[in-house]
Amino acid sequence: GASARRPLIAGNWKLNPATAPEALALLKLVVANQRALESSGRTAELPDVAIFPPFPFLQLAVDAVAGTGIKVGAQNVGLEGKGAFTGEVSASMVRSLGCQLVLLGHSERRLLYGEDDEMIRRKVRLALDGGLDVVLCVGETEAEYEMGLLPAVCALQLKKALHGLQPADLERISIAYEPVWAIGTGRTATPAQAQDAHAIIRSVIAELFEHEPARAVRIAYGGSVTPESIDDLMRMPDVDGALVGGASLIADKFSRIVEFAP
Ligand code: PGA
Repeated sequence: GASARRPLIAGNWKLNPATAPEALALLKLVVANQRALESSGRTAELPDVAIFPPFPFLQLAVDAVAGTGIKVGAQNVGLEGKGAFTGEVSASMVRSLGCQLVLLGHSERRLLYGEDDEMIRRKVRLALDGGLDVVLCVGETEAEYEMGLLPAVCALQLKKALHGLQPADLERISIAYEPVWAIGTGRTATPAQAQDAHAIIRSVIAELFEHEPARAVRIAYGGSVTPESIDDLMRMPDVDGALVGGASLIADKFSRIVEFAP
């Protein structure tokens, strides 16, 4: 979008790659591409770049991106701060590795792992208190889209996840609009579809908070983003970036998305 909002291009690695050596190899390529972009003299045009590797690779990632502008985030955090919660991971643990972000509310967490809006709300609060900024995902399923429920579904997800937050908290939150029907399907939303959804999301945030946080909040689009689709998406006034799944695992594709035509 042609706004004062600095775009955010983020890579969601999901459950990939299979091993630490493969993660390190991907990190090296991503970092080399980022260094090349940063030394191209076009730094002012570059978006914020973030990657979300699996937990076991977070430290590798933090070490690998040192000296570049890439931020590292976790794909999730648990619902507890500390204590007898076997298998859980806290926001402060993730923060202490040098991570700055966490992805919350992804549709795979909602649909495959039963995360509801109340859990996501609690995680948003814990993440902010634990020192992590949040990329909050919302988006409707295909059935909901076909029934015309996109506005209602996104509004409810936002209202519940952001309940209790102050306008100032919004400065530490970005939204990712990810229609479930576009994730991993190759069916990227059209720029017009994305724009409509993003405008709705921004108006919901204006209702929940104030005009200024709504104007400033970044809304990234996610769902089958590729180097071929990014430019047209980014031309939409309310599209402030992309959350990239599959294409973020191929360093050259990810780099071409980071380098979208402004
Ligand atoms: P995709 O995933 O780019 O592979 O569709 C996006 C996401 O789920 O964040």
